[in-house]
Amino acid sequence: MSDSAAHRSFKASQLWQPGGWQADATLGVSANGRLLGPATSEIENLGKWVLPGMPNLHSHAFQRAMAGLAERKGRVDDSFWSWRETMYAFAAAIDPDQLQAIAAQLYVEMLKAGYTQVCEFHYLHHQPGGTPYAQPEAMSLALIEAAREAGIALTLLPVLYMSGGFDGRALTARQCRFGNDVDGYLRLLESLRQLEGDNLRVGIALHSLRAVPEEALRRVLASDAAKACPIHIHIAEQVGEVQDCLAIRGARPVEWLFDHAQVDARWCLVHATHLTEAEAERLAHSGAVAGLCPTTEANLGDGLFPLVDYLDAHGTLGIGSDSHISISPVEELRWLEYGQRLTTGHRNVAARGQGISVGETLWRAALKGGAQASGLPIGELRDGARADLIVLDETSPLLAARDTRSMMDSFLFAGNTPLVRDVMCGGEWVVREFRHRDEERIAARYRASVERLALR
Ligand SMILES: [Zn+2]
Repeated sequence: MSDSAAHRSFKASQLWQPGGWQADATLGVSANGRLLGPATSEIENLGKWVLPGMPNLHSHAFQRAMAGLAERKGRVDDSFWSWRETMYAFAAAIDPDQLQAIAAQLYVEMLKAGYTQVCEFHYLHHQPGGTPYAQPEAMSLALIEAAREAGIALTLLPVLYMSGGFDGRALTARQCRFGNDVDGYLRLLESLRQLEGDNLRVGIALHSLRAVPEEALRRVLASDAAKACPIHIHIAEQVGEVQDCLAIRGARPVEWLFDHAQVDARWCLVHATHLTEAEAERLAHSGAVAGLCPTTEANLGDGLFPLVDYLDAHGTLGIGSDSHISISPVEELRWLEYGQRLTTGHRNVAARGQGISVGETLWRAALKGGAQASGLPIGELRDGARADLIVLDETSPLLAARDTRSMMDSFLFAGNTPLVRDVMCGGEWVVREFRHRDEERIAARYRASVERLALR
């Protein structure tokens, strides 16, 4: 096949660009799934409303199978830490085949919701009990295979998890699957980096300051990988964690990190929930991404990110579905805004000026931050970028009489009917007319795997 035969051309009545909607746009997709100028005479019509797919900057795939299983009242002081007990029990049982089955189902659901990339914050490395698998990368490879089956772009972030608290205490029996020393971790990272390609990026994840001692942090950040890779960390999700960090390290987590590492655009600080005004400003000015997961943070009772201070300081943010209590960029962004409305008593909080659209502001911000956190050329429909796009259902009653001025606000705030009709990822159609190309098989295998897990 010649290059021109493999090079396809498309048009859209309205195409979302960083500056706003572009009417009557055309775009070409190369044989390797990148965007470039249209070339062939045959032009396929994509539809009326075409947007870049959304990156999902934070995922723990296995947790999808326990969504809804930790919603029964436990102790009087039920909190994040009681949810974690359920999660640990679940994490103890999963093998590589089950992880692949769960992740593939999750990634199909992500694609259907409009996510075209996922950052997998992956700490379930070893066998139950902590012995490495014969192939130490077995669980990572399960995730890579799941992403390939579903057709989603993956940024795999193997996690360094060394201790059970700021005091350096050893991992508990149930945390042993997560643990590596620095040498083992760097070996895992290097072996996974050999697999990088168009659909796979590998980056560094430090579980949290409580799980990574200072010396280990220094060594990982001095590695060759750290110079070029995205670096993600859970930073300040829980008040208790902030208090422990203050008590033992003498500073709040964000403060401590900035004093001990060169935090810049490579970094994504996940759950930067508990920030002082000074920390919000420091984070914004660093160029790092604040990784926000509003539905999980709500589900776990974490608290609210100081969005106004952060946006006023021109901070970069992106969204993730984290524990997968919800798989919808629409719902993440809607709740990012609603949380602020509920606490401030004001409307249209994310829009920082008169006449500015909240929907446009949030979608644009999350594309930019998500792309940066992923380390992939995504988030924008421009030449050279991956052809990751979504086409909305122009026939939906929710979009009746909507124009370029009202479209994004209606997409985000008009309801729960799925509006994502078609999804292209890396130039491949993975969802057409609301259906994923392999959804029956993947769902059947998921169901069988989760039923087996539940029996244990
Ligand atoms: Zn997380």
